[in-house]
Formats: sequence, structure tokens, C-alpha cells
Amino acid sequence: MKEGSLSWSDLLEALPDGTALLDEHGKIFHVNEMLTTLTGYSSQELIGQNVTMLVPPRLKAREDEARRKDGRDPSDRLWSSDQDLTVLCHDGSELPVDFSLSPITFEGRSWAVASIRDNSATRALERARRDAETRAVEIEKLAAAATAQSEQRFRLAFEDNMAPMVFTSKKGLLFAVNDAFCEIVGRTREELLGFDSKVFTFPDDIGVTEEVYRRITSGEIDRIRYVKRFQHKDGRTVAAEVSMSPARDEQGETLYFVSSVRDITEERALTAQLSHQALHDPLTGLANRALFDDRLAQAHARVARQGGFGAVLILDLDDFKTVNDTHGHLVGDQLLIAVSRRFEDVTRASDTLCRFGGDEFLYLAEGLNSPEEAEIVAKRFLATLVEPFTFAGATIDQHASLGVVVWDKTSKSTTEVVQSADVALYEAKREGKGHYVVYSAGMHQQAVGRFTLAQELEQALAASELSMNYQPIINLSTRDVVGFEALMRWQHPDQGLISPNVFIPLAEESDLILELGFFALNEAVAQASTWKAANGQSSQPFVTVNLSAHQFHDLGLVPMIESALQSSGLAPEDLVLEITESVTLHNVAETMSVMERLIHLGIGFALDDFGTGYSSLSYLALLRPRIIKIDQSFVSPASESIRNDTLLEAIVTLGNKLNMTMIAEGIETKAQLERLRFLGCELGQGFYFSAAVPAEDVADILADAPWR
Ligand code: C2E
Ligand code: MG
Ligand code: MG
Repeated sequence: MKEGSLSWSDLLEALPDGTALLDEHGKIFHVNEMLTTLTGYSSQELIGQNVTMLVPPRLKAREDEARRKDGRDPSDRLWSSDQDLTVLCHDGSELPVDFSLSPITFEGRSWAVASIRDNSATRALERARRDAETRAVEIEKLAAAATAQSEQRFRLAFEDNMAPMVFTSKKGLLFAVNDAFCEIVGRTREELLGFDSKVFTFPDDIGVTEEVYRRITSGEIDRIRYVKRFQHKDGRTVAAEVSMSPARDEQGETLYFVSSVRDITEERALTAQLSHQALHDPLTGLANRALFDDRLAQAHARVARQGGFGAVLILDLDDFKTVNDTHGHLVGDQLLIAVSRRFEDVTRASDTLCRFGGDEFLYLAEGLNSPEEAEIVAKRFLATLVEPFTFAGATIDQHASLGVVVWDKTSKSTTEVVQSADVALYEAKREGKGHYVVYSAGMHQQAVGRFTLAQELEQALAASELSMNYQPIINLSTRDVVGFEALMRWQHPDQGLISPNVFIPLAEESDLILELGFFALNEAVAQASTWKAANGQSSQPFVTVNLSAHQFHDLGLVPMIESALQSSGLAPEDLVLEITESVTLHNVAETMSVMERLIHLGIGFALDDFGTGYSSLSYLALLRPRIIKIDQSFVSPASESIRNDTLLEAIVTLGNKLNMTMIAEGIETKAQLERLRFLGCELGQGFYFSAAVPAEDVADILADAPWR
């Protein structure tokens, strides 16, 4: 290094680090000013000393190591910067430094340049960073802990929730499901996650589900609860109530959707069962009146809107009571079920068949193109009853009467529809069972009229509007009066004389017939007891009184007759009770026992209207009446025919063979009278002789029969 040129000591001075030139043993040969500034030593104090004087005793070992390394490979420039590398300052303090040692060769000798750089600022920064890092780690730990906690909460609320839950993305894909959900749809997570709900939605409900999604994703609705069906993997259908709501971030942006599910299958089944029970007849399983009314209201509204025709049929089993009475209620129930099944066979899927109660059925026929189609339906129903029913050996013929009403858009209320069908049924029954009648406007007036009349009839007895008239019964050979038939008359204040053919059936619809029957018997017995024997007759005339079948069920009948006979003094032999076959439609055993008790008293029975019933001969054998009254249709037929003539002859011959007295009804002409006499019919009555007369005229007839 030459004077006047840039010396190496000038270079050392220019360096920003504290620098020392060391010989191969570490002895300080030269220092720059920066080193003296940093260490607090003067250059004199440093030069000639070993560099180790600057190393704090606790770091000596590391220094040795460093120098050993250095010795091994002196070409390595070694920078060391670790956190606690310090130099020992003059005042005893330690200065944190970065340290470097660079070996150099100069004039054949090995030297080293040692540099230290104050890094206390960096160190402070570093420390701050380290602290911050530590804090960050802590925060992270806390956060993780917090997350762990919320995860636990999440697990409780979601994973372990008994309620099936599912998270769905905005695109409708499932991204989280809990066990309960897997269970309800019978699928594993793998089979669900990443798929949409079509995987487990009952095919018919996919549309509903998509609509719900559309509405909730479009923001049209905020949350929704709806019912849909899932298709369990095993094929079962699961009814589910799904509550769905969006999960949002702080800005209110929807992130995904959370749905919780309630399995309502059993609930549904129970509800269905309950509503089925509420809407069906337990015996036959058919719809009940409530369901029928509902369907009718819907059908009525449809016809009003769209036109076309609807029809209601009321079917009433004819004389069903007989089945119960004869075969017992068990068979009665079985018959109702069997009839229901046959009716169901002809029931269209769109129509409603209902058991209205007892032995009545209602049928609602919808979508008819013409009123005539209703009649086709009616015929179809009647046809189901052509074949008899058999139960445990018993063969039962069961027919039905049918009332039909057809309505269109112009028509009435549903109540009126059913009422009209009822009126038509009533008409069908009146006309003689086993067929159908289609309602017509006039029928309603008639029905209303009948209804009013029935109400007025209840007052008629008290108002003394009822009385008994008497039609003489004549011995056709001698033309003597042998008896009288008591026939009831109603003198209506406005309508005049009303026929018993009209008001007796009205009374038979209620217990009113019992009152009327009581009146007829007491009146007739009392009157007959006053009758004297006719001119030239030894015996006094008997009286016949018509009995209604219903009266046989009146426990008071026998005692009532006994007391009527007793108080009037009329001999039981002078009383004849007229009955028709219809008495046997009710409990036969009961009827027979009542008859026996009356016969035992000495009272006689006449089988009225003989020949008009459907099995007259068998009833004749069963009831064994003393008298047969030959119906007037054989005596004075509307049209004379050989057939009628032959029948009349057969009846008279039969009656004589059975030793029964015969009374021919409705003799209107002399020819009829002669014919009957010729055939051997003993007694007769009819307009040819006399119509029924008021009680006060009986004495005149007895005194002087004008037909003699
Ligand atoms: P029924 O017992 O067969 O009575 C005979 C009916 O024939 C009577 O009609 C009588 O007036 C009518 N008649 C008599 N002779 C002739 C004739 O030559 N030509 C025609 N065309 N008719 C004749 P009525 O009095 O109108 O009674 C009708 C039915 O009402 C009776 O038929 C009977 O079933 C019932 N009835 C009448 N009174 C009573 C009663 O007090 N109690 C009950 N349960 N029924 C009664
Ligand atoms: Mg009669
Ligand atoms: Mg008669």
C-alpha cells in the first residue's frame, strides 16, 4: 500500500460496518472508526488484542466453532446473523450485531476481515414480528378453538339432530346432510352429496319442489314450509314436511339454504284413516253422506260452469226390514255388504256411491251427455239385483226402488236436487216397488201437497173430520145384508172428501196409523153393537174392519180390541179383521202369534184384495183366514178378458175347496153378480148394491135393502 494512493485503511474507514483486520491468530491488526464507535473501545485498546475480547464469555464456544470452520475452509465468507450474536462493549453491555468474517491473503500471509453491523433495530423489529407471530398463532388457536366449539354446536344442531336436515347450494345441489336425513331417504352421503333433490323426490312432486326452489331463490318468498313426498331407496313413499330458509352472510347475501324435514307419513296415514272414517260408512266402506254432499257440491258447481248434466239416484231396498226380522241382523248386514259390492260393480270411477244410512243408497253420476243416460244408469243398478243373494243356505230376493233426478246448469241447489230424487223415490215406491221413477216438476207439487196433507191429517181426528162409513155385504143368493165393511172417510174442510187410498198410506208413514186404526176399530165395534138383525134375519150383521200391517207391531192391539168388544158388548164372532198380505212382510212369527190370540178370542180374519199380491197362495196357506175377499180387479175388471174370467173361476173354486167364505169386492153390474153366483161365490159387495154409507144410514139399509 503506497502513500498518496488509496490506502486499505482508507477503504476500511469507508465501510459502513465496524471492521477489524485480523491476523491468522485472531489478533487485531487494525480497526476502523466505526468499530470503536460501536464497541466504545479506542483503537489503541483494541489493536494488538485478540478479537475474542469482543466476544461475550457465554458465546465463546460458538466463536471457537466458527473459527474452526473458518480455518477449515478459509475461502468461505461467513455471515452470521442469529438472534443472540452480540459483541461485548467497553461498558460491559452487549451489542446485538450481524457478524461476518472474510478471509483474505495479502503479501503471502493469511488475514481476515471481521465486520460487525449493529442490528439492534432489526432485532427490535424482528422481536416485534416474532411477538406478533406468537399473537397470531394464539389468535389462530383461539379461532380454531372457537371453531371447534361452534363445530360442536354445529354438530349438535346438525349432525346429531334427530330431525333430518340438509344444506343445499343456490344451484340446488346438496352439500351437507345429516344421518337422520340419510335415513329418511335411505341413501348414504355419497349417494346424496353433489346431487340435487330429484334423487330422492317422489316423481310426481319434482314439479312442486322445483317451484319452491324457484320462488325461494328468486326472493319471492323468504322462507317456506311445504309438504312433499320422498322416495325412499327401498321404494317406500315418505310424506315429509320441509321447512326451508336461506343462510345469509353479513351483507344479507344468500349463501345457501337450510332445510329441516319432518316425517309426517304416520301422521298422514292416521289423518287419512281418520278422514276415511269420517267420510265412509263403516259397514260397507262406501262413501258416507258427508263425502257425498261434498262431491255433489263440486259436481253441481262444475255443471253450472261447464254445462252438461248430472244425476242423483236414490236407491231404497224394498222391504229390507223383512230380512232383518226373518234372518236376523247379521244376515241383514251381510246383505247390505253384498248389495254394496254389486252396486260398486256398476259404479263408474268418476261417480260416487254412498250409503245414506239403513237400506238407502245415493249415487252421483257426473258428466252425462243427456238426461236419458241417467235412466241407463238406473237400469244398470236394478239389473244388479235380478239374481237372488244366498247366505248360509238362505236365498234372499232383494229388489230396490229408485228415484232419479237429472239436473243441468239452470237447476236448483244441491239440497233441492236430493229432495227431488227423494220425491221420485217416493213415487217409485207408491207405484209398487222394484223400479225407477225419474223426477218431474209436477211431482214436487204433489210431494208438497202430500206433506201438507200429512200434517193436516194429524189434526183431522181431533177436529172430528174423520168418520166411518159402512158398505153392506150381501148374500149373493138371498140378497140379504149379512154384514158391513167399515171404511174410513176424511171430510177435509177445503178439499172435501178425501179417499182413504190417499190418506191411509200417508198415515202409514208414521205412527199416526195406530191412532187412526184405534179410532176405526172403536167406532166400528161401537156402531156394530147397535145393529139389529135385518128384516127376516136371525143373526145380526157382522162388521169388517181394515187393519194396517203396522198395527200388528202395536203391543196395545189385542188389549184394545178386547176392551172395545167388552165395552160395546159386540160378540167377537161379529168382528172380522181385514188384512192384506203385507202383514207378512214384517215379522211373520209375531204376526202369527197376534193373529192366534185374536182368533182365540173368537174374532175372524179376512184376507183382503186377494189375487193382487205376488204370492197369494202361499199366504193363504200360512194365514188360513176364515174369509177371502176377491179383489175387484177380478170381479169388475177394467177390461173383460177370458184370462180374468178363468182366474176368477179358479179363485172361487180354490176358496170353496179350502172351505173359506168368499166375498167378492166391487160388484158393479147384474152380470157380474150373476156370474159370481154361478161360480159359487157366497158373498159380495159393490156399488151395484150400495156404496159405503154413513153410520146413521145403516139402519135404513138393514130395514129395507133396495136391491131386493
Ligand atoms: P178395501 O178394503 O179393499 O175397500 C174396498 C174399497 O173398494 C173401498 O174404497 C170401497 O169404497 C171400494 N168399493 C166398494 N165397492 C166398489 C165398487 O163397486 N166399485 C169400485 N170401483 N169400488 C168399490 P175406499 O173406501 O176408498 O177404501 C179404499 C181402501 O182404503 C180400502 O180398500 C182399504 O184398504 C183402505 N181403508 C179404508 N178404510 C180403512 C181403515 O179404516 N183402516 C185401514 N187400515 N185401511 C182402510
Ligand atoms: Mg177392505
Ligand atoms: Mg179390498
